[in-house]
Amino acid sequence: MKRVFVTCDIGSEALDKLRRRGCHVETHQGQGPPSQEELRRAMDSGAEVLISTVIDPVTASVLEAGRGTLKAVTQYGVGYDNIDVEAASRLGIAVTNTPDVLTDATAEFAFFMLGDLARKLYNSERLVRENRWTRWHSTQPFLGVEVTGKTVGIIGLGRIGKAFACKWLGWGVDILAHTRTPDEDFARSFNKCLEITAHQELCPRQAHFRFASQEEVLSQSDFLSLHVPLTDETRGLIDAPVLKAMKSSALLVNTTRGPVVDEEAIVEALKNHVIAGAALDVYHQEPLPADSPLRDPALEDRLRLYHHFGSGTRETRLSAERDVGMAGRAVYCALRILEGDPPTSIPYLVNPSAFE
Ligand code: NAP
Repeated sequence: MKRVFVTCDIGSEALDKLRRRGCHVETHQGQGPPSQEELRRAMDSGAEVLISTVIDPVTASVLEAGRGTLKAVTQYGVGYDNIDVEAASRLGIAVTNTPDVLTDATAEFAFFMLGDLARKLYNSERLVRENRWTRWHSTQPFLGVEVTGKTVGIIGLGRIGKAFACKWLGWGVDILAHTRTPDEDFARSFNKCLEITAHQELCPRQAHFRFASQEEVLSQSDFLSLHVPLTDETRGLIDAPVLKAMKSSALLVNTTRGPVVDEEAIVEALKNHVIAGAALDVYHQEPLPADSPLRDPALEDRLRLYHHFGSGTRETRLSAERDVGMAGRAVYCALRILEGDPPTSIPYLVNPSAFE
């Protein structure tokens, strides 16, 4: 029987799909991720596919434990910085991910995070719930910032970055984007849409989309959203000097990976009003430790914290359909490998060069 080890609950529908195709599915039980020892044991005992998530360190030693039997690590997520892909390639283990199916869910979440931060939705609700809303006042106890008509900066214009940009059509916001490989066709189409919406009076002003240097995006944006993967190049991308280069009124949103942002620098920047606010969905350590300086109550009015929730919709996380959900896509990859298809025929293969 083909054996699959799954590190978290990806939903019974997707797991049943595996079972119906003759797989023995073993699921990690417990609150946190499996320990290295548990993962090594599962690999050593003959798992042919490991379905992993972003918080599982799939190290070389875990992969080595599966030498000879482990055929694939099918990541339940698009980012795969938790997997030692080099070691997997060396051992002939395919690594796949689940791009596209979480693009809109994550993009809309970043969009809503920015809304929460700019319009102080959390602060407003707390005020009401804690019965501190004692009178109506034009400016007290706080005001938000209007988003319409401002400049939104995006770093990393890939799948999610582009989808995030599209959420702003109709808002009259200018978009400044910095990315490694600018897609000029996207820029042209986007500007055409902006022109039409303004011409038809479907938005408050004629806005523009433009690619720009990272420096310009940082210094000119009212709101900045990060959409790069975590790589050696992007680790610590947002550090103290970068934060200083931003507007003091700027709001930062991070849905990528925690280490893209220097957390200590963010705490200092918020304390000293170097930037006006931040909303974070991802952290250096997840779940966020109880003693994290990000929890400082002094920052609560300007720092929103979420629990790595960007892709957290029922459809995206649980659908067993390959073109709808992460579960469906991860299971599809697992079955293709288990049923003998060559890894290079799988569109979501991360390490094709290892098999060419
Ligand atoms: P993607 O399509 O690969 O887009 C990433 C973009 O960033 C690419 O266009 C890439 O350029 C660009 N880039 C890479 N390094 C850069 C650098 N140093 N400077 C500027 N741009 C750079 O990936 P995606 O599907 O949009 O996902 C992005 C990330 O979001 C994932 O890796 C994951 O970490 C995160 N994510 C988080 C959640 C959540 O729940 N919070 C959910 C999904 C994804 P090239 O085109 O040249 O490669």
